Amino acid sequence: MSNFDQTLVLIKPDALKNSLTGYIFSTLSEFHTGLRFAGAKIVHVTSMLAEEHYSEHHGKPFFPSLIEYVTGQIHFKNEPENQRVIAIVYMGRNAVKKVREISGPTNPEKAREEKPGCIRALGTVHLIKNEKGEITGDRMDNLIHASASDEEAEREIKMWFKPNDIPPSMHAYETRQSEQHFYYKNGKLSENYLPQSVCILAPGDIAWKSDLEGLQKIANNQPSSITLQAIIAKYLVNENRNEM
Ligand code: AMP
Repeated sequence: MSNFDQTLVLIKPDALKNSLTGYIFSTLSEFHTGLRFAGAKIVHVTSMLAEEHYSEHHGKPFFPSLIEYVTGQIHFKNEPENQRVIAIVYMGRNAVKKVREISGPTNPEKAREEKPGCIRALGTVHLIKNEKGEITGDRMDNLIHASASDEEAEREIKMWFKPNDIPPSMHAYETRQSEQHFYYKNGKLSENYLPQSVCILAPGDIAWKSDLEGLQKIANNQPSSITLQAIIAKYLVNENRNEM
C-alpha cells in the first residue's frame, strides 16, 4: 500500500445517459475518499479497446452485449457523437479497495439488496435474448467500472492511458524512451511508414516500459506476453479513423 496506489474508473454510457457523472465525481471526490485525479479523458471506445479491456470475459454468453454496452451502442444507438466513456485514474493509498467499496457489487440488483447507497445500486439489469427471442442471460448496466486488484489496475491504466496523459510526478509504472519508430496498420506492426498507417511511437517518445518491450518483441517476431492490440488500442483512441 502506498500513496502511489492507482485504480482505473470508467464512467460508462448508462451513467452519461442518465446524467450521473456529477454524482459519481462527488461520491469519489478527494474529500470523501482521499484519492486524487492522476488522469482523465473522454474516450470513444473502439471495439478493439473494449475487447482487450474485457478479454477475461471473452467467450462468455454476455460478452457481445457487454461490448455493445461499453462502446455506447445500446444507450446511444445511431448517435456516434454521444458514444463515449469518461476514463479516470484515481491515486492514493488503497485506491482499488476504496473505489470498489463505494461502487458496490457488480450486479445492480444485488447492489440494491446488499449495499443500498453504493453507486451501482442505481444501475439496471436487462435480459439478453437471442434471434429466436429466447433469454440467454443478463446484461448488467452498472454505471461504473472499477479495477479489481492492483495487478488489474496496472494492466487497465496502461491500456487506456499513455504515460503523457498522466503528470510525470504521478507515474506509478515504469516508462522508457523509444529509440525507434513503430507504425500500425490493419492488425500489423511495422518499423517503417506504410500509407495510412498510424505512427504509434517515434524516437524520443515516452512509452510504458512493458509496452515498449512488447513492441520490440513483436517487431522481432518473438513471443510477447502482451498482445499487439492491448498495446495499440490506446494509441488509436479518438484517432477518428475507421477501425483498423
Ligand atoms: P468485471 O470484470 O467482474 O468487473 O465485470 C465486467 C463487466 O462485465 C461488469 O461490469 C458487468 O457489466 C459484466 N458482467 C460481469 N459478470 C457478468 C455476468 N455474470 N453476467 C452478465 N454480465 C456480467
